Amino acid sequence: MKQLNPNISPHDGYYFRDTDGSTHHAAGWSGVIARVIAYRKRQNRPTETTEKEVIEQACSRTPVICVEDNGATRAAQSVASLRTRVLRWLLLKKSEREKSELRFINADLHAARTDVCIRCPVDKSMPGGGCGSCRAAVREMQEAVVGARTTDSRITACPFLGEHLPVSTWLDEPAVANPDLPPECWRKRSI
Ligand code: SF4
Repeated sequence: MKQLNPNISPHDGYYFRDTDGSTHHAAGWSGVIARVIAYRKRQNRPTETTEKEVIEQACSRTPVICVEDNGATRAAQSVASLRTRVLRWLLLKKSEREKSELRFINADLHAARTDVCIRCPVDKSMPGGGCGSCRAAVREMQEAVVGARTTDSRITACPFLGEHLPVSTWLDEPAVANPDLPPECWRKRSI
């Protein structure tokens, strides 16, 4: 199914030409859909398919404003969103490190946490692996926060927390009250 991309404006404006020949303009797609629904209601016509019709007509008129809303698109969006969360989190930790607000745990505890993460069933890889410059930025931020402390390469990102595990497994931080975390998670129990 097609989906309108809210970040692209159609060159000829937002509008829908109804089957009875009437045309409905608005400042955005949601406005067009609302106007068509209101118009059809006044005429005692069914409205259930209005949104689908507006999208299909807009996509056939200007294909560039649409994306295919399939599983691959949603997966790509979720990958991008986790990567963004992890990068934001790293930036925050870098800033806290620069202000001397971070405390670190010892190597034995770090090893125990790493072991829990490795056995945790969630995917711990960095979404999409990241592009070259993205990987370099992550490496640079990791070094800026934890210095020469190293971590097992089998853990990278936690999808529940949006945290970078090679860094978070070294930090002395409070437990997280997130009911989605698996019971064995060290961040839930704060080891
Ligand atoms: S949920 Fe907990 S144990 Fe699992 S990867 Fe994330 S931090 Fe590690």
